Amino acid sequence: DMRPNDLKAYWMPFTANRQFKQAPRMVVGAEGMYYKLADGRDLMDGIAGLWCCNAGHKRPRIVEAIRKQAGELDYSPAFQMGHYKAFELANRLANLMPGDLNTVFFTNSGSESVETALKIAIAYHRARGEGHRTRLIGREKGYHGVNFGGMSVGGMPANRKMFGALVAGVDHMRHTHGIAENRFSRGQPDHGAELADDLERLCQLHDPSTIAAVIVEPLAGSAGVILPPKGYLERLRAICDRHGILLIFDEVITAYGRLGAPFAVDYFGVEPDIVATAKGLANGVIPMGAVFVQENIHDAFMSGPETMVEFFHGYTFSGNPMACAAALATLDTYEEEDLFEKGRVLGDYWADAVQSLKDCPNVIDLRNLGLIAGIELEPIAGAPTKRAFDAFLRAYEKGLLIRTTGDIIALSPPLIIEKAHIDFAFDTLRAVLREVA
Ligand code: PMP
Repeated sequence: DMRPNDLKAYWMPFTANRQFKQAPRMVVGAEGMYYKLADGRDLMDGIAGLWCCNAGHKRPRIVEAIRKQAGELDYSPAFQMGHYKAFELANRLANLMPGDLNTVFFTNSGSESVETALKIAIAYHRARGEGHRTRLIGREKGYHGVNFGGMSVGGMPANRKMFGALVAGVDHMRHTHGIAENRFSRGQPDHGAELADDLERLCQLHDPSTIAAVIVEPLAGSAGVILPPKGYLERLRAICDRHGILLIFDEVITAYGRLGAPFAVDYFGVEPDIVATAKGLANGVIPMGAVFVQENIHDAFMSGPETMVEFFHGYTFSGNPMACAAALATLDTYEEEDLFEKGRVLGDYWADAVQSLKDCPNVIDLRNLGLIAGIELEPIAGAPTKRAFDAFLRAYEKGLLIRTTGDIIALSPPLIIEKAHIDFAFDTLRAVLREVA
């Protein structure tokens, strides 16, 4: 009979909860599209846990795979040892990912995938005798996790302001969104591809031959579902190519079906040099991430005599058997149920539902792509974030879990969602938005 407040001495949940000055809302179970709350109510999961349970909750195939693996081989280091499931999973992922992004490095989280990607980029240049290429470029409003590298390239200054200096040699491309012409545009906005040219400004500011890599989320999730204008990613790719800079996609949110294709690489048809993933890889059930690297990059940094010795990287839990088994069963579930297609199959229905909120009070922008949405509310003067947080509380009371960031509501439901769930979610939001007015 423990109450949430009694737990805080033992467990420090996400520190960001403090901003809401509330104990966590307790869940006791989950199945499919729903959480079961401690008071017995069902809560529809509108955000796939935290953008990760893409196949929904407690899927039998995944549960069974974990049970079976625990009875066979619970743990094996990747250091000096190996096991078959890791190779099977790496092969399967390489086949799923387009192009030559065929070498896979396993991690345990999005933050670790980002650190790994940044280090590989620097190691690659060094192996090719370009040890001076160490600068890293991120983007304003980018989110790349909470470790030092990712926090530094990340473009949310509030997340890093108390830590003073960033990792040395980091810059951020300017990124504005909500450009007047793009408001309420269905899908990818038409305007703003020239934002990519800010990379050229940074190449003028620093000698471009000192820049190792540019990292972007193809679609920025945590800053409030900010969509890339048409042509933006292509332009970034072209500028990077011109200067020998590696392009890294942080697909921690977009990978594994969010956009109606396995990866954003497929969806946008732009191939970066390195792709960082995590979240949906093992359906949020066991921590698991994977970094995909172009074969030629892998071969270069693994064959440089110096980097072979100096590139020391790997985690105790990299590619552990339990996580690999969960990931393999997750991929089986995605494929058997055609979940990578879902964002395309339901895309129009979803887009209509999102854009139908246009007439609700205080809605100043609506963004949708695949099965993801951003609903931007006019902040209350002097009380930013209050309106969206109020919406969160009211939606929760009505049985819908949403995520808010600033005054933006984000939706990113499990891909098992059906039309009736979409109707429920948007009817609920319509009622909520009227109430918070
Ligand atoms: N990159 C992106 C794009 C993310 O959305 C997140 C998590 N929201 C991360 C990195 C960090 O992932 P994790 O919380 O698993 O470390």
